[in-house]
Amino acid sequence: MEVFIEPIGRLINEFSKLPGVGKKTAQRYAYKIIGMTDAEAKEFADAVIYCKQRVKYCKVCGNFTEEETCGICKTRQPVSICVVKEPKDVIAMEKLHEFKGVYHVLHGVISPMDGIGPNDIRIKELLARINGGVQEVIMATNPDVEGEATAMYIAKLLKPLGVNVTRLAHGIPVGGELEYTDEVTLSRAFTERKSI
Ligand SMILES: [Zn+2]
Repeated sequence: MEVFIEPIGRLINEFSKLPGVGKKTAQRYAYKIIGMTDAEAKEFADAVIYCKQRVKYCKVCGNFTEEETCGICKTRQPVSICVVKEPKDVIAMEKLHEFKGVYHVLHGVISPMDGIGPNDIRIKELLARINGGVQEVIMATNPDVEGEATAMYIAKLLKPLGVNVTRLAHGIPVGGELEYTDEVTLSRAFTERKSI
């Protein structure tokens, strides 16, 4: 017999789909929703739908945007392109207020173990962006095995195009993620980036 009545069980099931949310936390979230007024619960549900309807990927860089092209691509010169794994990494880099170029979000990294090959991430789209105006491509994928392999793979493709390819310096803990790296460390890794 199910412990929860159906509507509550369904809500708990939905919350458990979120990263880092186990059964216990999902239950707490569900109870919190039940305790809300109808208006509050509607506001919560509406925000989920609204976000899904409004947020799309920038057709140039792949970052989140509400329009066809994101604010960064619209206002900055693509003299240097910072390549990251996910949109959240753009936020981590932007917090430094040091990088004045544009981004390219790969939406993943090459990971043969998970069946993700070069064609499954936005590498073609990156190559298509390289022209005479691009002076530097900064590989800012995470310093884990997949991130390093992806950076090397892309660097090999870019070299013949005559573009300077750099990699964030070490200092970001190996296996760590940009998102969780403190700003001082990330800022140093950025400033001390090296050609690869
Ligand atoms: Zn963009």
